[in-house]
Amino acid sequence: MANLILILGDQLTPDISALDGADRNQDRVVMAEVHNEASYTNHHKKKIVLLFSAMRHFAQGLEADGWQIHYLTYHPDNEARSLEAVIAGQLELIGADRIVTTECGEWRLHDQISQWHERLGVPVEIRPDTRFIASKQEFADWAEGRKQLRMEFFYRERRRKTGLMMTSEGKPEGGQWNFDTDNRRKWTGKPPAPAPFRIEPDEVTRAVIDLVEEHFADHFGTLEDFHFAVTPEDAEQALDYFIDFALPCFGDYQDAMADDEDWLFHSILSPYINCGLLDPLAVCEAAARAWHAGRAPINAVEGFIRQILGWREFVRGIYWMNMPAYAQENRLGNTRALPWFYWTGDTKMRCMHKAIDATRRNAYAHHIQRLMVTGNFALLAGVKPEEICDWYLAVYADAYDWVELPNVLGMVMHADGGYLGSKPYAASGKYIQRMSDHCSNCHYKVNKSTEKDACPFNALYWHFIDCHRDEFSNNPRMGMMYRNWDRQDPARKKALLKRADWLLDNLESL
Ligand code: FAD
Ligand code: SF4
Repeated sequence: MANLILILGDQLTPDISALDGADRNQDRVVMAEVHNEASYTNHHKKKIVLLFSAMRHFAQGLEADGWQIHYLTYHPDNEARSLEAVIAGQLELIGADRIVTTECGEWRLHDQISQWHERLGVPVEIRPDTRFIASKQEFADWAEGRKQLRMEFFYRERRRKTGLMMTSEGKPEGGQWNFDTDNRRKWTGKPPAPAPFRIEPDEVTRAVIDLVEEHFADHFGTLEDFHFAVTPEDAEQALDYFIDFALPCFGDYQDAMADDEDWLFHSILSPYINCGLLDPLAVCEAAARAWHAGRAPINAVEGFIRQILGWREFVRGIYWMNMPAYAQENRLGNTRALPWFYWTGDTKMRCMHKAIDATRRNAYAHHIQRLMVTGNFALLAGVKPEEICDWYLAVYADAYDWVELPNVLGMVMHADGGYLGSKPYAASGKYIQRMSDHCSNCHYKVNKSTEKDACPFNALYWHFIDCHRDEFSNNPRMGMMYRNWDRQDPARKKALLKRADWLLDNLESL
């Protein structure tokens, strides 16, 4: 019995479950760079290069290991424009009896593949993706019967289960689960942030860069200075580099932003973890080893592990428990279109310009830029969730629906009514001023709120608080904001709301 084994672009892990028990002599592995997957959103050019090049390297590795591969390289004239068409063609060619694949990371494609047994007339075996630390079932079991799902409790359970950063008595190392209060320092240039880890493009990557330049010229972002790893060996080196040079300061400056620094002390590992070049548990173990060896402080290591063991696994669980309805949520009733400057970076708001410009150049922005700058602005401006979700899905090298959607729709836009996060991350310009040096270089004045040159975040923030009284005034974590708002002088409130109305009517000019 011969199987067609489909391996997707984010399944580049040699022990992916689709290959379990497969027969190198009989079975055929299918990988394909197809139009529909490369173009269903306006993917950043660097993301397409990363994935096509990593896929080509992965296929070469399998071939060298004795597997029979059918690999379709991208060409706009390829007749087969979808994965289904490629699989159908291969079924006809070699007459396989069965399709085997590992569950994919997006509802959209999962839904399509689930219909293949009927559409293609052969059984389709969809195997669990064992690269996550918690299976979908484990998450569902944890969530069952809980009134509220909170990441912190899920994370603690995962710590106990994996033993990561736990004492032999089953207590968290350092006596605390969470060291976040130590992780809120502003960065003022010292210690210097390490340059990002770079891999020079090899022949395969250079060919893909040419291909993307030619056929995806209208996609978002630039191709200059492509330096991502595209093999597991190089991604492993990126992990070592992070542990040696950035992890020690990761915690302290986790929430910091800087005008002249794109990467700070972040790991820049999400593009590799998400496509399978790095294993998430192995990454956490490497960080824990650094703490045990005295090479990084506990606030850095615990904070880093929490992002992967906690947030990454948590959002994936939320996604699969709630799709496809989750994607339709818009509980704050937002109706505004995404301002065009999200695509160009052409805005006088320095923080927004810096975050979008880095995104355009690097296919990367760190968490606080995504959450508290571009995300915060979209929340305050009442942008339609589907438009801002589409933007985040397109512009980052690490973006896949399962991780992007809960982060944007849930964490940033609060469009799920607080299912994922207990309060919206709405903030005025003060927060951005506290955590960065953007404001001192900005056209707008962060200390003003109602004047023509006042920071737009300020009036929009109070407008948001005022507009959503019904949703948030009873939220214990928001009570103080409402007391502050209610205490303000009526004339000032009126002026703030007037300024906000003007801003909302003139978003494109900001
Ligand atoms: P680090 O700051 O070094 O963190 C370490 C790792 O923790 C990351 O590599 C990532 O694997 C994990 N992680 C951290 N925060 C989260 C989180 N909230 N959810 C899931 N994993 C997390 N992450 C993506 O991988 N893909 C996305 O499409 C994505 N979209 C986002 C959209 C918004 C609006 C926000 C607020 C966050 C989003 N994130 C996304 C989460 C996070 O911002 C990125 O994982 C992180 O910035 C990646 O950079 P890094 O590897 O340097 O992360
Ligand atoms: Fe951003 Fe406002 Fe600061 Fe300008 S003043 S950088 S718009 S927070």
